[in-house]
Amino acid sequence: MISRRGLVLNSLALAAFESLPTPLLRAAAPVSKTLPPWQPGVLEIHQIATNRGNSAFLILPDSTTLMVDAGAIYGATPYLSEPLPSGQRRPGEWIGRYAKRRLEASGLTAIDTFLLTHLHGDHLGYLSPDAPLSSDGTYRLTGVSDVAAIVPIQRFVDRAWPDYTYPAPAEADFQQNYRAFLQSQSKAGKKVERFHPGSKDQFALQHKPAAFPGFEIRNLIANGEVWTGNGAQTKKLFPDLSTLKPADYPAENPCSCAIRLRYGKFGYYTGGDLTSDTNYGRNPWRDTESAAAEACGPVSAAVVNHHGYFNASGDRYVRALRPQVFVIPTWDSAHPSVNVLNALFSKAIYPGNRDVFATLVKQENRIANKKTDDLKSRAGHIVLRVEPGGDTFAVYILSNADETDTVTASFGPYTA
Ligand SMILES: [Zn+2]
Repeated sequence: MISRRGLVLNSLALAAFESLPTPLLRAAAPVSKTLPPWQPGVLEIHQIATNRGNSAFLILPDSTTLMVDAGAIYGATPYLSEPLPSGQRRPGEWIGRYAKRRLEASGLTAIDTFLLTHLHGDHLGYLSPDAPLSSDGTYRLTGVSDVAAIVPIQRFVDRAWPDYTYPAPAEADFQQNYRAFLQSQSKAGKKVERFHPGSKDQFALQHKPAAFPGFEIRNLIANGEVWTGNGAQTKKLFPDLSTLKPADYPAENPCSCAIRLRYGKFGYYTGGDLTSDTNYGRNPWRDTESAAAEACGPVSAAVVNHHGYFNASGDRYVRALRPQVFVIPTWDSAHPSVNVLNALFSKAIYPGNRDVFATLVKQENRIANKKTDDLKSRAGHIVLRVEPGGDTFAVYILSNADETDTVTASFGPYTA
């Protein structure tokens, strides 16, 4: 234990201090720090850590707001961790409350766009047996629908609207619930759109675009249709379905949407659960992440595909993106995998320095996967804060043990 004598803490910081797990108590200096509110010109990218699925929340330089995924996994199995801050709320509620705090701190009120990378429950919300019904009674609250009950979402974009038939009908119970939720939102006047691969307009700034000409979000890929780098042109990686047996149809993960964000010199990649798996060489077209990463090119920061699981974030992905910062959304015992961490840290793939951050590393993975020693963080929300203009950025780790958003560590500045 450290002595608290000489530390000046206000009551909020003191409460956070008291509730921090023991290892963090040793980091006395950052305890009283909180992230400053978003301001015009700043780009904030929050990888929210509930230990129960992916979600990222972005405030863009002109105050346009974007959420990418809002997963929710329920139940207790040995390969999962306790949900954080606690199991008293559903993961989607924690995500919505997090976004609402960041919005309110800057006088903002809504999420302009929700992008769903693909139709899996760790990105949109599985169904919990006790999930409450929505106020109109047409769907249950989980994941993104929990978020929308806390913060209004103005527009939804996914890879399969409106028919949800490619490559096969999306009819699992949680997918049907999500579709019922979108129908309800659409009836209420919210926009719903299918993701347009190759576009640089679908996620344009909505409030003051003229003030930030160096900002762009490019749609890289969805459903195996990848941007060529030429205008808005795309090419299809998957064979025509009529040439495949249904058992060989593309799976959900390689159908994920990916985007590249650019702000001045700063670049950021995120691509859901794209994988580099080729079915052991049998179906080279299944490797959608390499094509997406090569279409993207080098960035300053990249989200690691598929939670750092063994079949994604391969050497072509690492070589094409070669970022200074990797962010891994993790929660289970195999996240991140041994082979992936070795690739992310490999100086044979690219020589530059890089820092790697994960939202959670479980104890059994710490023992089995020695490279986890080299991670800059192994628990908590990961926040990228890009300064106006995009020349420099920093990384902040926020405690996810409670809702104080206490900064437990910071890194940088990095030059984009
Ligand atoms: Zn996933």
